[in-house]
Amino acid sequence: MTREQQDTSQVDVAIVGGGMAGASLALMLTRYCPQLSVALLEQQPLPDPRASLQLPSFDTRATAVSAGSLQIFAELGLWPALREHCAPIEHIGVSDRGRALGVSLQARQQAPASFEGMLGAVIENAALGPVLHRALAQTPVGLLAPARVDSVQMGTDGALLRWRDGNGDSERQLQARLLVVADGVDSPLCRQLGIDTERVEYRQRALVTTVGLQRAHGNRAYERFTDSGPMALLPLPQRDGHHRMALVWTCEEDAAEALMQLPEEAFIARLQRTFGWRAGRIVRAGSLQSYPLSLSLAREQWRRGLVLVGNCAHFLHPVAGQGFNLTLRDCYWLAQSLVQADLARNSPGQLDLLQEYGRQRQLDQQLTIGFSDRVPPLFASANLMARGLRQAGLLGLTLAPPLRASFVGQAAGFGL
Ligand SMILES: Cc1cc2nc3c(=O)[nH]c(=O)nc-3n(C[C@H](O)[C@H](O)[C@H](O)COP(=O)(O)OP(=O)(O)OC[C@H]3O[C@@H](n4cnc5c(N)ncnc54)[C@H](O)[C@@H]3O)c2cc1C
Repeated sequence: MTREQQDTSQVDVAIVGGGMAGASLALMLTRYCPQLSVALLEQQPLPDPRASLQLPSFDTRATAVSAGSLQIFAELGLWPALREHCAPIEHIGVSDRGRALGVSLQARQQAPASFEGMLGAVIENAALGPVLHRALAQTPVGLLAPARVDSVQMGTDGALLRWRDGNGDSERQLQARLLVVADGVDSPLCRQLGIDTERVEYRQRALVTTVGLQRAHGNRAYERFTDSGPMALLPLPQRDGHHRMALVWTCEEDAAEALMQLPEEAFIARLQRTFGWRAGRIVRAGSLQSYPLSLSLAREQWRRGLVLVGNCAHFLHPVAGQGFNLTLRDCYWLAQSLVQADLARNSPGQLDLLQEYGRQRQLDQQLTIGFSDRVPPLFASANLMARGLRQAGLLGLTLAPPLRASFVGQAAGFGL
């Protein structure tokens, strides 16, 4: 019997979804709460760690990870494996299309908030997935994959999950004292549990691809504000001697559609015109992926025996690079709350533990979600606040918390 097939019919914590949120939380629970038995159920097959490339989280995107998130990964013992896949961000260059002046932020100006001299780092999701899943394979977490959870039923002792394996023909059951739903945006499980979401459609799309450059990026991230929205070029590690950066280009839906139709050469010419020459000549562009932009917030993130993490709890505008960083902090504090679960006397699904987690996360979530919802639209505007934000840059505000605190303080009139 393989690890994937072993019987985990009763566990302390069941996590549904093995994407960035679910896999990170499972690793944190084994690190901080070894007293808990944990099962992770993922509907896609995971025959070996490379298969994590099939999961939606680990597609062709790259993620800007803050210094705080890198610190969490380091605590989990993942930094040695991640380091080779990460491109450090040591500088952020911010510019405004149509205005000559730009601003540059450097890691050494933000020393207390940096990790090993970086403001943050960029890692391709396709590299992050195997690192997380390879680490998970070394833990006692029961990995059930492919395992599609079709229904959950909440009771006084937690949750009863009904799931099917890859063939889909045999239904199995799993009882968990705490159910963590990490199944992504538009979660059918949340709907089944009667958890509503609040949604704002931005009617914009993020176009994402990898571009090749003639010269090295020098660990510099670029952010450029245009009339249609912000765009970012993020450093990536070299591959086969090629200089590479990850592009996130925010545009109105029609403009995005038109860009998707362009042949590579015409796309590069348009990109170069819009972005300028700060990063040098763009010589290649990979295939474009397009992501609809919306804000989607679950109206409840916890109940007795139940917690939501990741995109199913909050799906944010991606341009400021906040979604996964916020999720990682949520997962970290959920694990810290569960450290206190004394299994002889109480359950990890006990309401007061989860309420404490909720109280702990409230302020950070409110600030981060408010920032990601209200700030991007300002970037198309010409008012004073917009200009102040443009000078600091969304990425700078995300990766350099003291800068953000000082900006938020200034904007709120506290002059912090
Ligand atoms: C264009 C873009 C760029 C981004 N850039 C950044 C960035 O730079 N920095 C940052 O911090 N964040 C960024 N984000 C946000 C980040 O991608 C999300 O935080 C992350 O994807 C959260 O993943 P998740 O695990 O919650 O959901 P998902 O990736 O959707 O994973 C959910 C998993 O659950 C599984 N599943 C679903 N239903 C079931 C079921 N019934 N049973 C079993 N398994 C199931 C799915 O197969 C999947 O593997 C970006 C987002 C976008 C769209």
